[in-house]
Amino acid sequence: MLQFTTAGRKTPPKRDADTRRRDFAEIYQPFAKERAEEQASRCSQCGVPFCQNHCPLGNDIPDWLRLIAEGRLEEAYAASSATNNMPEVCGRICPQDRLCEGACVIEQSTHGTVTIGALEQYITETAWDEGWIKPICPPRERSQSVGIIGAGPGGLAAAEELRREGFQVTVYDRYDRTGGLLIYGIPNFKLEKSVIERRTDYLEKSDVAFERNVDIGADISFAELRARHDAILIATGVYKARSLACPGAGSKGVVAALDYLTASNRKGLGDVVAAFDRGDLNAEGKKVVVLGGGDTAMDCVRSAVRQGARSVTCLYRRDRKNMPGSMREVANAEEEGVVFEWLAAPKAILGDANSVSGVRAIRMELGATDASGRRAPVERAGSEFDAPADLVIEALGFEPEDQPGMFGAPELKVTERGTLKVDGESLETSLPGVYAAGDIVRGASLVVWAIVDGRRAAAAIASRLEKTRRPIAAE
Ligand SMILES: Cc1cc2nc3c(=O)[nH]c(=O)nc-3n(C[C@H](O)[C@H](O)[C@H](O)COP(=O)(O)OP(=O)(O)OC[C@H]3O[C@@H](n4cnc5c(N)ncnc54)[C@H](O)[C@@H]3O)c2cc1C
Ligand code: SF4
Repeated sequence: MLQFTTAGRKTPPKRDADTRRRDFAEIYQPFAKERAEEQASRCSQCGVPFCQNHCPLGNDIPDWLRLIAEGRLEEAYAASSATNNMPEVCGRICPQDRLCEGACVIEQSTHGTVTIGALEQYITETAWDEGWIKPICPPRERSQSVGIIGAGPGGLAAAEELRREGFQVTVYDRYDRTGGLLIYGIPNFKLEKSVIERRTDYLEKSDVAFERNVDIGADISFAELRARHDAILIATGVYKARSLACPGAGSKGVVAALDYLTASNRKGLGDVVAAFDRGDLNAEGKKVVVLGGGDTAMDCVRSAVRQGARSVTCLYRRDRKNMPGSMREVANAEEEGVVFEWLAAPKAILGDANSVSGVRAIRMELGATDASGRRAPVERAGSEFDAPADLVIEALGFEPEDQPGMFGAPELKVTERGTLKVDGESLETSLPGVYAAGDIVRGASLVVWAIVDGRRAAAAIASRLEKTRRPIAAE
C-alpha cells in the first residue's frame, strides 16, 4: 500500500473518441489484474477514510482496496457486496468526482485520487466471471410477502435485501423490462444493458417474482396490492419532464429527453420504435440542440453524436463549474465533438408549424446566490443569438407525477415538491406498512442514493414484519 508516490493515477483504458463516436458500446475497457493491483496499492489507508464517509453507502473502500492489492479478490468482493447491491453499476456511473474520489486524501495532496469506481467495477466483474455470485438461498423461508412497485435500482436493491431475509417478494413494473432508468434512461456507452439484465436474472434465480407491464393504479389498484401483501414499497421514480415555457415551445421537432433516450435504448435492444424510424426521435443527419446541463443532457448529446447528427450543441444557462452533470461526462462529450454554449438560455424556438429551424438564445451571467445555494443566472441585455437546429431536446429535469392521484390514495402524503413524505429513519409513508425509496422520495437523484434507500426501507420492512409475524406451519 501507500504506493501513490511511485505509481501515478491511471484510469482504465478509454476507447479513442473517433472510434467510440461510431457505436454505443461502453467507452472504458476493464482494468487488467496487474493494473488493478497497482492502482489499489496507491491507497494511503488513512486513519479517517474520507472516501468512505463521502460514499452514500458507506462502502468500506480502504479495506477492499487493500484486499485487491494483496490479490485477495474473493474477500474484496465479499466486503464490497456487503454494503452495495450493484457495485458494478455504481463503479461505472456514480459521479465519483463529487463522491468518494472527490474526498480521497491523496487527491488533496495533489497525487491524483485512487480510481475507486473503476476498482469497484473490477471486483464485481471478476466475481461474476469467477462464479462467486450465487442465487440467494435464504436460511429459512417466510410466508409474509412484500410488493415492490418499481424495478429501478431502489426497488431492486430492496428486493434483494428482503429475499435474503426469506420474504416472498414480487416486483411490479409498468415497463416491459426491469431496471427503471438503468434500462431505458442511461445509454449503453455508460452502462451496457447486459449488466442490468444479469442482475435481473440473478434476482429471478433467487425467486424474486417480477410482474412486468403492470401499471399499479391502472392495471391493479393500489388498494388491491395492499391487500395482497404484508408490506408495500413504492419505488416509482420521477417521470414528469419539465418543459420550456417560451414562444415556439411544444413545436414539432422539440422532444423530451426521456422520450428521445428511451427510443434510442429500445432500438439498441432490438425493439421496433416507430417514432425513431420516422425520424422524430432520431438525430441522424440533423443539427441538434440539447437544453440543460445535467446527466440527462450529457446522455442526449452523446447519443446524438452516435446516431450521426450533423452537429450537436448543448445550451446551459450556468457555467461549466456550476453545471449539475458529472465533469467526467462533459469531458467525454467534448472529446466526442459536442459544442458547449455555457451561460446561454433559450428565449424562443424558431421555425414553423412543421419543423424547427433553431433556438433563439440569450447570454447569461451569474448573479447573486439563489435558494439552491448556487449563483443565479441573469440575462445579459441585447446578447441574443440564434443556434441553428432541426431537433431540439429538452433535458430540463424531472418532477414527481401525482402519486396519490394515480394510486387513488389521497391519504398518501406528499411534500411541497410532490415527492412522497416519509419518516426520516424508516422511510415509511403516511400509510402504515407502505414505504418509499429512491427518486420518488428525494426527487431526481442518483443510483447510489436509490440503493441506500432501498436497503434502508428493506431493513425497516423486515423489522416490521418480524414483529407482526403470524405463526404459520411453513415458517
Ligand atoms: C438520462 C438519465 C441519466 C442518468 N445518469 C445517471 C448517472 O450517470 N449516475 C447516476 O447515479 N444516476 C443517474 N441518473 C439518475 C438515476 O437513474 C436515478 O436516480 C435512479 O434510477 C432512481 O432510481 P429509482 O429506483 O428511484 O427509480 P427509477 O430508476 O426511475 O425506476 C422506477 C421504476 O418504477 C416504475 N414505475 C413507475 N410508476 C409505476 C407504476 N405506477 N406501476 C408500476 N411501475 C411503475 C418505472 O417504470 C421504473 O421502472 C440518470 C437519470 C437519467 C434520467
Ligand atoms: S458506490 Fe459510488 S460513491 Fe460509493 S464507493 Fe462506489 S463509486 Fe464511490
